[in-house]
Amino acid sequence: MAAMLSFLRRKPTPDPLASPRWPAIGRAMPLLQGLTAEEWERLEQRMRTFLADKSFNAVQGLALDQDKLLVIAAQAALPVMNLDDSAYHGWFDVVVYPTAFVSRDAWRDEIGLVHEGEFEYAGMARSDGPLLLSWPDSQAGPALDGWNLVIHECAHKLDMLNGSANGFPPLHAGMSQTDWTRAFERGYRDFCRRLDRGERMAIDPYAAENPAEFFAVLSECFFELPHLLHTEYPAIYTQLREFYRQDPGMRLPVIGVDEAGWYDN
Ligand SMILES: [Zn+2]
Repeated sequence: MAAMLSFLRRKPTPDPLASPRWPAIGRAMPLLQGLTAEEWERLEQRMRTFLADKSFNAVQGLALDQDKLLVIAAQAALPVMNLDDSAYHGWFDVVVYPTAFVSRDAWRDEIGLVHEGEFEYAGMARSDGPLLLSWPDSQAGPALDGWNLVIHECAHKLDMLNGSANGFPPLHAGMSQTDWTRAFERGYRDFCRRLDRGERMAIDPYAAENPAEFFAVLSECFFELPHLLHTEYPAIYTQLREFYRQDPGMRLPVIGVDEAGWYDN
């Protein structure tokens, strides 16, 4: 039994949020402003889980120190702050690059021909596990401009909880599949139509790529420019508020379309 008992013992790991630098790092992130004390507590709990459960690998010479881990973990924790502690289950590796990285991919064109090529990415949520992030893009995330790489990739991970990413993640009990589908399908069609008309958009046109990217990009917008999303697509805002079980519009300052900036398409 002694062997069994010693097998069960685990060395206590230091609390990463005990770092004297964490409070200042957290307070400097505009994304986190307005959280109540209770929400901070839940955010920190999800950060602890994320930091304990995932294996972080810095590649291509990047030095991944505690401060960088805290910046990434805070952004990853925010969307799941009010969700089950196991929302990010089923994958383990986070790979952090010193810059955007190149990945070889295949895609099928409109007539079905398969092409291969190398593309540059700021981040990627791979269906076979790892979450890949460029550190400069992860660091730029917390500014309130509607662009947040970590939230984008984590939204894909939530979407993948019921299969491949398609913009239809598993919904909570009480949420309506019909309402979700109607809101997102209508929104996606409208978004693509507006882009086709050449309309200037304050939401990243990359959302038009496919329904999975639409969900991920609008999730970024929900957490950074909630008032803008609410104005543009109120039905989607309602669905995301129910899905993420929080209402960033209640805690973040109102940033209008002009302040948020425009994307050229
Ligand atoms: Zn994406």
